[in-house]
Amino acid sequence: MMLRTLPARLLVLLLAATPAPTLAEESPMFAIAIHGGAGVISRSSMTPEAEKSYQEDLGKALDAGYSILESGGTSMDAAIAAVKILEDSPLFNAGRGAVFSAEGINELDAAVMDGQTLRAGAVAGLRHVRNPIELARLVMDRSPHVFLTGKGAEDFALENGMPLVPRSWFYTERRWQQLEQARRGERLSAADIGYYGTVGAVALDAAGNLAAATSTGGMTNKKWGRVGDAPLIGAGTYADNGSCAVSATGTGEFFIRGVISHEVSALMKYRGVDVAEAARTAIQGRLAAMGGDGGVIVVDREGNIAMEFNTEGMFRGARDARGKREIAIY
Ligand code: ASP
Repeated sequence: MMLRTLPARLLVLLLAATPAPTLAEESPMFAIAIHGGAGVISRSSMTPEAEKSYQEDLGKALDAGYSILESGGTSMDAAIAAVKILEDSPLFNAGRGAVFSAEGINELDAAVMDGQTLRAGAVAGLRHVRNPIELARLVMDRSPHVFLTGKGAEDFALENGMPLVPRSWFYTERRWQQLEQARRGERLSAADIGYYGTVGAVALDAAGNLAAATSTGGMTNKKWGRVGDAPLIGAGTYADNGSCAVSATGTGEFFIRGVISHEVSALMKYRGVDVAEAARTAIQGRLAAMGGDGGVIVVDREGNIAMEFNTEGMFRGARDARGKREIAIY
């Protein structure tokens, strides 16, 4: 029926009876940001084909996480789904395609944190777990602990029905060549894109909960069971519904000593600054002053996203319920 044909009084009644939707009903906010590592990534060191491959895999991870949020899923499920795709991509330094230790072995670290409950799970020194991020979640959900390492962590995986994979699963020729170069004492060239190349995701779901997930192979030629910042809660990974969710990448030793991810959260919580200023202060201020390189991705409870780095580039992407979708490298 055409509204024009209704008597004016009825039309007024009809309009008055329709409740005006509140902003929250109209559009629940949800958002996700991902990274695929920060480091020496200059335009001149990238072929158009390489750039396209990175963008494609980042896009797949971003959209997989986003579609979980869009259908009402949790931020934890979304962050893990995004990280799993990047772990399975040979392009990034996590899961398949991870860098080699001095012994010529891929040793993987990962962590997750839930901003609502402040529960967390972390693993380090894995050699046979295809998706370390899933084991980190299992540690959070099914163990009384937060952080498991090495063989113990893999025993826990088996006891919980997670199959192990042979070490050859993680091998890529490019990473092996990087190890050979490092062994010869050569500086890795700019063309060795993603020397750092850790992956991570942070998300806000429609219920207003935050989560963070980070996964890495660490640093080429690492020795003596070295563990970086990625699996250390507060250093490379942090989430708190009272502030934000953070995932970091870069020179791990500096992120550990600067407790950089928690620093971002603390700046928001105690100094009341917004997500962009907190990320900037932690990276361009504290981290840079210590001599560290890298970046963070951050999301807050309003779905505001910051992606801050002090390196030439950071593989990254962001998508939210307002319609933003962005993938960038430099
Ligand atoms: N932060 C990682 C580590 O130190 C490396 C990286 O982000 O690329 O293990």
